[in-house]
Amino acid sequence: MRQAGRHFLQIPGPSAVPERILKAISLQTIDHRGPDFAEIGHKALAGMKTIFKTEQNVFIYPSSGTGAWEAALVNTVSSGGKVLMYETGHFAFMWSNLAGKIGLLPELIEGDWRGGADPNQIEDRLRADSQHEIKAVCVVHNETSTGSVSPIEDVRRAMDAAKHPALLMVDSISGLASIDFRFDDWGVDVCVSGSQKGLMLPPGLSFNAVSDRALENSKTVTTPRSYWDWQDMVGPNQKGFFPYTPGTNLLYGLIEAIDMLHEEGLDNVFARHSRHGTATRAAVQAWGLEVLCARQGQESGVLTAVKVPEGHSADAFRATALKHYDISLGNGLSKVADKVFRIGHLGDFNDLMLMATLSGVEMGLDKSGVPHNAGGTQAALEHLKAA
Ligand SMILES: *Cc1c(COP(=O)(O)O)cnc(C)c1O
Repeated sequence: MRQAGRHFLQIPGPSAVPERILKAISLQTIDHRGPDFAEIGHKALAGMKTIFKTEQNVFIYPSSGTGAWEAALVNTVSSGGKVLMYETGHFAFMWSNLAGKIGLLPELIEGDWRGGADPNQIEDRLRADSQHEIKAVCVVHNETSTGSVSPIEDVRRAMDAAKHPALLMVDSISGLASIDFRFDDWGVDVCVSGSQKGLMLPPGLSFNAVSDRALENSKTVTTPRSYWDWQDMVGPNQKGFFPYTPGTNLLYGLIEAIDMLHEEGLDNVFARHSRHGTATRAAVQAWGLEVLCARQGQESGVLTAVKVPEGHSADAFRATALKHYDISLGNGLSKVADKVFRIGHLGDFNDLMLMATLSGVEMGLDKSGVPHNAGGTQAALEHLKAA
């Protein structure tokens, strides 16, 4: 049956694609080896450097974020090499799983899924590694399964304090272009990202920002690779081209997205996300429900994961909200499946859209019989009016 009005896609990625980007993508595909393409390639690559805040290297793949995870590892760590990872949640776990599958030795520091990575634990582990067997430290910036942010700057400081030469690799697939990220200033070696979260594009593009040190280091890495090989990208990229067919139409969209982000101003984009995160948490608190992130100051502006009371099904609630109010909310992943739902408040999003989203959640809680107090939506509104 037709549902009137627009669907609310409030999962924490893919985020709804703005009209301007849809239009940009709809243009005719051109010859990716022809003379007109170089400008597209140059603009996309140079533009992404301004988003990562780096003057070093950026590579773009026609792939999902998972591909860029693999690219980051196969270019930096030789087969059998150790990588230290921190279990912030499902995505950190999946990245370590991938590392194991491609023949690396991931070591996962256990986490409780309620906050970001702990720099002190990372420092202790690195100090104990006197033989420098650990080749990379991998941390998820914005853990999309829990709504927690890791203090990347502090992780770098911890690595420096331990005087350990491992590379710092960050997954900012859902953080980039929504929360503050500074590749060069924070001393990151590889940052992995994707198109369908803060960048407001459909899925299909992924990114590696790469330090000069990591790029140089990749020349001696022996892990077999072809599609993901950074060294094959360097030459063509310098001329604005790619070694194989790029996602041409998504690159049109990417250029538009970068323009939009700078028109608004990155700091304003970050402040907007942070404000919507705070308003959402005000709603959750007034409902008498619990936010999954329990570490103050590490709550995400991208999404909020909400625990449903014991004995209730988060997935049944989501199905009810979808059926009655045409809103898609994120599901709980692996360890927290059916125990939490996730409200995405990222991308091309404003106060009224947040209010509609929270109204949908509150009406859905009511309709599905999840015990809660009324007034969460009102609490968010009061926050938005005051802030
Ligand atoms: C979305 C996401 C991924 C996975 O990206 P895909 O595009 O689905 O492959 C990995 N890490 C984080 C933090 C994410 O948010």
